[in-house]
Amino acid sequence: MARDPDEARYDGPVLDDLREIRSLSKAFARYFAHGAPRLLALQLGLALAARSMAGSPTLVELWILVGIVIYWPLQEWFLHAYLLHMRPRTLAGRRIDPLAARVHRAHHRAPWSAQATFLPVKVLLLLIPLNFAFWWLAMPTRAASLTGIVGFTLAAMIYEWIHYLTHTGYRPRGRWYRRVWKNHRLHHFKSERNWYAFTAPWVDVAMGTSPDPSEVPTSPTVRSLGIDG
Ligand SMILES: [Zn+2]
Ligand SMILES: [Zn+2]
Repeated sequence: MARDPDEARYDGPVLDDLREIRSLSKAFARYFAHGAPRLLALQLGLALAARSMAGSPTLVELWILVGIVIYWPLQEWFLHAYLLHMRPRTLAGRRIDPLAARVHRAHHRAPWSAQATFLPVKVLLLLIPLNFAFWWLAMPTRAASLTGIVGFTLAAMIYEWIHYLTHTGYRPRGRWYRRVWKNHRLHHFKSERNWYAFTAPWVDVAMGTSPDPSEVPTSPTVRSLGIDG
């Protein structure tokens, strides 16, 4: 397969070339070969089992799920724009360069590498207890906490799936997915300062980061993000 000439800029190994995955069924099978989707699936199964033992569903839980559907796309945009694209800085003599930002830079340098596309298990292991603590403390009942965990875990799994799929060789179909696919590729190959949304293109429209691609010059730092290492 012809390689992107820019790939030579990435000095690490491409461990798993996502472009070789061309069908949805193969993409789905390969999705569960990675640590983050496996861990999230395990969490989802356990949370669903625990919720099923905590009584009948209530209206509060429906609102929790609606809240997650509204909140998640905004979280995607803000975390991508401000945390994943955060430039290293020095504060009181200490270098601040979060693991999530370092991993995201590796993802921009090697966009076809499966390994750099998924959330690192290390980051997830840090986020899972925080997420549990939030739902446990913020919700009025155990059932509501478990529903929050179920909804948030499912949202994370959908985000991971869609993001990964946009990096595979599967050709997009359907209006929504075609747009998601195109916007994410524009973010990787046109301008790293636009198209931050992963699953909800409307957030980019609302935030002013969905310009007409023909009016955006190709950024010379779209692969490196202008940072060495
Ligand atoms: Zn990406
Ligand atoms: Zn990015």
